[in-house]
Amino acid sequence: MSRMMKAALLTELNAPLELTKVPVPRITNDEVLVKIEANGLCFTDVQIWKGEHAPPKLPLIMGHEGIGRVVAIGPNATRLKVGDRVGIGYVHGACGHCRDCLTGGENYCPEFTATGYSIPGCFAEYVALRDQWTNKIPKGIDPIDAAPLMCAGAAAYASLKRAGLQTGDTIAIFGMGGLGQYCVQIAKLSGMRVIAIDIADDKLVTAKELGADECVAADENAGATIKALGGAHGCVNFAPVTTTWPIMLDACNPRATIVLTGVPAGEMAFYTYQVVERGLTVRGSSASNRHEMAELLALAAGGHIKGVIKTRPFDEIDAALNDLNNGRVEGRIVLTMEGDA
Ligand code: ZN
Ligand code: ZN
Repeated sequence: MSRMMKAALLTELNAPLELTKVPVPRITNDEVLVKIEANGLCFTDVQIWKGEHAPPKLPLIMGHEGIGRVVAIGPNATRLKVGDRVGIGYVHGACGHCRDCLTGGENYCPEFTATGYSIPGCFAEYVALRDQWTNKIPKGIDPIDAAPLMCAGAAAYASLKRAGLQTGDTIAIFGMGGLGQYCVQIAKLSGMRVIAIDIADDKLVTAKELGADECVAADENAGATIKALGGAHGCVNFAPVTTTWPIMLDACNPRATIVLTGVPAGEMAFYTYQVVERGLTVRGSSASNRHEMAELLALAAGGHIKGVIKTRPFDEIDAALNDLNNGRVEGRIVLTMEGDA
């Protein structure tokens, strides 16, 4: 009989997760078996659970912000050894040889596999990961701080890079949830001037504490307010709403770049001259590649990036998912595994 482990199973969309026992994954080829220590909960998990981002098949173990120790190595795994602490984000693996993979765009590979979506994820005691596709966690970052860096932190870092700004430039960051909070800190570490925008005053207070130079309420005057502050050389949007779009168009200085990361359900319309006349660039950004993850982890190992994190025991995963769905979470939730089962 195979060894069993605790796991949270999504057996039916929109129904409570089932805490149950399933077989420990058998590793083959280039896989390593990782014993999970901490699991970040992401809004994408809520979208998968509700069917807004329906998974290819059920039942599914979700979870794409997992940190743990390698406990077994597959026959063709050459990079990692037992005892290494590793993490995984949304990109579980990719083909490794297409144009996108070969030019730093593995997160856009048409064949990339997604942790906790198309491949069993981290909401369990153990997960099977691919040797070359995990991220080694540097000493100096504990598993709880590391977990949200795997998706929220990495997505924030990659989005900021897509804006292509220099030291001294002004970045306007829209949406002060987990990604926005990381982005504020990374932009300050990069020497940028940061304008934080959100509808919620308490989130702007937190943004200020994390280093934002200016905080602007996302009301009908927001574009003019940002203009009065000198305008933005780049905007990054993490808010999953369309109301930020006209504010960003107003706020941009000539040749600014708008990076879209949050995914609203509605369309974003514009008059062509708004983009043409000022030579604006509009880009999308999704997840990150491994090199960006390594850069972020190196920054975080210096102790300069702090997540706003609430920890909960793994067994409370369903309640935590509901709290996230109902907007009752500031920052990120990290689920901790307790003891040995
Ligand atoms: Zn995520
Ligand atoms: Zn590829």
